[in-house]
Amino acid sequence: KPTVAIVGRPNVGKSTIFNRIVGERISIVEDVPGVTRDRIYSSAEWLNHDFNMIDTGGIDIGDEPILEQIKAQAEVAIDEADVIIFMTNGREGVTDADEYVAKMLYKTKKPVVLAVNKIDNFEQRDFMYDFYSLGFGDPFPISGSHGLGLGDLLDEVANHFPHMEEEIIEDDVIRFCLIGRPNVGKSSLVNAIVGEERAIVSDVAGTTTDATDTPYEYEGQKYKIIDTAGMRKKGKVYEKTEKYSVLRALRAIERSDVVLIVLNAEEGIREQDKRIAGYAEEAGKGLMFVVNKWDAIEKETNTMDNFTKEIRKHFMFLDYAPILYVSAKTGRRVTDLFEMIRLISDNHALRIQSSVLNEVIEDSIARNPAPQEKGKRLRIYYTTQVATKPPTFVVFVNDPNIMHFSYVRFLKNRLRESFGFEGTPIRIITRERS
Ligand code: GDP
Repeated sequence: KPTVAIVGRPNVGKSTIFNRIVGERISIVEDVPGVTRDRIYSSAEWLNHDFNMIDTGGIDIGDEPILEQIKAQAEVAIDEADVIIFMTNGREGVTDADEYVAKMLYKTKKPVVLAVNKIDNFEQRDFMYDFYSLGFGDPFPISGSHGLGLGDLLDEVANHFPHMEEEIIEDDVIRFCLIGRPNVGKSSLVNAIVGEERAIVSDVAGTTTDATDTPYEYEGQKYKIIDTAGMRKKGKVYEKTEKYSVLRALRAIERSDVVLIVLNAEEGIREQDKRIAGYAEEAGKGLMFVVNKWDAIEKETNTMDNFTKEIRKHFMFLDYAPILYVSAKTGRRVTDLFEMIRLISDNHALRIQSSVLNEVIEDSIARNPAPQEKGKRLRIYYTTQVATKPPTFVVFVNDPNIMHFSYVRFLKNRLRESFGFEGTPIRIITRERS
């Protein structure tokens, strides 16, 4: 999928446009903390184009002066996007800060589409002419608050979409990534897996995302480790910001089958870990916890059990994700990762035979009938699996409005008891039988 980034000085209306374009995306997950708030990255659609959007305005690098912020945001756009929307404010004309953004964007060969926001009616179109001086050709007038002009703008953006070679997804390769806070040991783990030399990735300009992925083979199974920028040369200011690492993590998650949430045994569980895990869950990928730096822990009889309890307490929504205790430093249990990843990947792609599925559901209903809701009893007619990765089931009922979420949870648990599904989320959708 191509990626589109919006850049521009503060207060030109970047977030409004971002939200207009991505629309309100409703999360299917009800109990994951903090996932949908404060988005700077989302998938979007225009006509028959699927793409990803980044609002670089949300990447805040702390106390740096405003020009530094703008610079960092423009750099993110240049690094990450295929097409850049350069946004300005028609009411204020071209400002010094706009010229500064323009200067940053001259450095990239990527297509830049100039948008002039706050052009709310036809008369105000005259404000646009000023913007030719920025040197990005015809400006596109838009109005974020009225939702005007977005169609023409997006048509132009889509004209510049690169001819994406569809990422060739080889069926026999399991793709996984490691996500987690800085310093939990993600790069060290990759090094421990593949050996120091191979994981050091050059920072040559123009290397495609794909080139930074690391292929690996273990016991006859092919894997691909999807890069999350953790392995690259670090140094740019914005790479230290949490929003940016989240952005990189999201992009890696999207391209993976299985996501390894790496925790630091020495530091325990932090709020940020939960947020990161929330993103992984929302994406519907296979999941496991990897507790790294286990070598550095003073162990008593129950140390591992206690840590496991902590994880289960903090990540209740991920009770199906297995946990592995490893040390990148000593290499202990690092190879066990592969058996786990393979199992999770199998479960993630599991398809259950319809007859077996319906037997389990019928048996569940017999054991624990749905309680009455609004004076009406739920009737389940039949269930069918409509997708894998993650396994997704549609339950046909008499009235979806009386399907209580606790009953959905009960059915999910029953499916897990019957079919395993260790390490993969499962989704249940309720539909009225027509
Ligand atoms: P990243 O930011 O998540 O990629 O973390 P790094 O791989 O750069 O590791 C951060 C620090 O933790 C480095 O100083 C590593 O040497 C150290 N470290 C990584 N793994 C282990 C481990 O298993 N045990 C110990 N004791 N230290 C580790």
